[in-house]
Amino acid sequence: MNFRVYNTLTRQKEVFKPLKECEVGIYTCGPTVYHYAHIGNLRTYLAEDAQVRALRFLGWKVKRVMNITDVGHLVSDADTGEDKMEQGARREGKSAWEIAKFYTEAFFKDYYALNCVKPDVTCPATEYIQEMIDLGLTLEGKGYTYPIPGDGVYFDTSKLPDYGKLAGKAHVEGIREGARVEANAAKRNPADFAVWKFAAPGEQRQMEWDSPWGKGFPGWHMECSAMAMKHLGETIDMHWGGEDHVAIHHTNEIAQSEAATGKPFSNYWLHARFLVMGDLGKMSKSSGDFLTVSTLPQKGYEPLAYRYYCLLTHYRKQLEFTWEGVEAAARGLDGLRALAQKIKQEAGTAPHALDKDAKYYKDFCEALADDVNMPAAMAVLWETLKDNTIPAPQRLAFAAAAEEVTALDLFKEKEAGELAPELMDLIKEREAARKAKDWKKSDELRKALSDKGVLIEDAPGGTKWRLARG
Ligand code: AMP
Ligand code: ZN
Repeated sequence: MNFRVYNTLTRQKEVFKPLKECEVGIYTCGPTVYHYAHIGNLRTYLAEDAQVRALRFLGWKVKRVMNITDVGHLVSDADTGEDKMEQGARREGKSAWEIAKFYTEAFFKDYYALNCVKPDVTCPATEYIQEMIDLGLTLEGKGYTYPIPGDGVYFDTSKLPDYGKLAGKAHVEGIREGARVEANAAKRNPADFAVWKFAAPGEQRQMEWDSPWGKGFPGWHMECSAMAMKHLGETIDMHWGGEDHVAIHHTNEIAQSEAATGKPFSNYWLHARFLVMGDLGKMSKSSGDFLTVSTLPQKGYEPLAYRYYCLLTHYRKQLEFTWEGVEAAARGLDGLRALAQKIKQEAGTAPHALDKDAKYYKDFCEALADDVNMPAAMAVLWETLKDNTIPAPQRLAFAAAAEEVTALDLFKEKEAGELAPELMDLIKEREAARKAKDWKKSDELRKALSDKGVLIEDAPGGTKWRLARG
């Protein structure tokens, strides 16, 4: 079966042709760890996770590399402004290193709560400074860079005839226009970007290294080129990220990698569309006002309800986040689990081998192979599990197999229907507070319950509770 992917580079769905037979090397732009990852970031990682799981399910060997951006990502995409890590350090009165450690751990806590698979290689940028310097020296040796005294070493984008091919011509004009607004007058072209930066005048940086150009730190795009090539080779199979990376970050990764090696950098470029939130539009970390995976239990939802929510929309469609949508997803997931339990009971101890010739199995695989069409795969799963004409043992085997891709803890038993009396008392106390419109107390009690693993929902018929599973 052909595995198809939509390639941003060619703007079409293509049959995936690997560099090595049956093997896939995937590089993914990881989080910038100056703050918590928001659920928008995690939408992108969930899309990637579904693809990795789908590829493995279909028999591919996958090596996935994820970087951790812990230095050099500046507040402005035009390579000006403060380093986000230093900004995070100032915000919290900690060192940039402490910030990086804390938010890397926080990211993986959320990532695993969503049942995402551990990347095969996780690489923090600060551990690859020498590789970035070496890449910069290669570019310098080939005449692609120029210094701006007191600022840094820049890549001259006019030297690459196909600069901007990922984003498309119109898009590139847009970048040029955009960059002009905060143009660095010393740059030869508005789209030129930093390979190495020096600390701004008067800035006391916490993270800096010696280099042949002077003390400083790498330009943000350098890390992904250096680490992808180090772990996956000069040409890689697939490169992933969110849609915001097309115009600048990935465009510049391509420019510097291909200038250095003379070879294509990545054969396929994949991008997840954004999660947006009603009037707020796109969810952004820098605004500081965002939802995290940990916010979900506080509102009465387990993290996997969000995984299910994301699986129901194709990753190349924008996803509008609403609490009603999460509520519907939580109920849908409960329904799917109840169905799986029912089938398990019906199947009893009868042997249950997976029927790989069955139409539903082939349809499921076909959906996965079709640019990871998870909404279609979920529809096949639902229809098959509901179909009483298929023997229960076969449905059970299919549900168990599908779980390798969906990872929704389908067979997690519903917890006992009773709570410890002291917890029931807290729920009653909260209901009383709500009736008295004492919202402060009601919120405090919700938080106290959530800390003990009990999630509260205020449904039209009264307060409901369930145990956090995530
Ligand atoms: P960052 O931590 O900002 O470097 O972003 C981590 C990943 O999340 C990148 O792949 C981004 O493209 C992606 N991303 C950022 N915002 C969103 C959003 N609102 N929806 C989906 N993905 C996003
Ligand atoms: Zn990157």
